[in-house]
Amino acid sequence: MSDCIFCRIAAGQIPADIIYEDADHLAFRDIHPAAPLHAVLIPKRHCATLADMTDAQEHGRLILAAVATARALNIEKTGYRLVANYGADGGQEVMHVHWHILGGRILGWPPG
Ligand code: 5GP
Ligand code: ZN
Repeated sequence: MSDCIFCRIAAGQIPADIIYEDADHLAFRDIHPAAPLHAVLIPKRHCATLADMTDAQEHGRLILAAVATARALNIEKTGYRLVANYGADGGQEVMHVHWHILGGRILGWPPG
């Protein structure tokens, strides 16, 4: 989708600091990091929201890619948080499925 910012990153049309990539997924540094280490992981295939992604295997592969991204950030031992913002109350701004991978500091709970 040419008007989707994450599709444009996946297509190489917008530069990004790539952390992890495989055939179906791409993880890059968030432009406004909320933690010392903050990656955004996307499926390369456009899908607007988690609810639109109905294939359980696709969800599963995305989570495995999130774990691989955390490994690439070297935060497997120290720990990290996976966040998927959904809808208005959840604060989803970019309508292309993505997981945030946050680490590099102790993360408070519950989130504000
Ligand atoms: P959301 O609020 O939709 O869950 O998160 C979208 C995230 O994408 C935000 O944390 C925002 O900083 C990040 N983001 C938005 N546009 C860009 C961009 O062009 N490049 C990068 N690297 N991150 C972006
Ligand atoms: Zn997209």
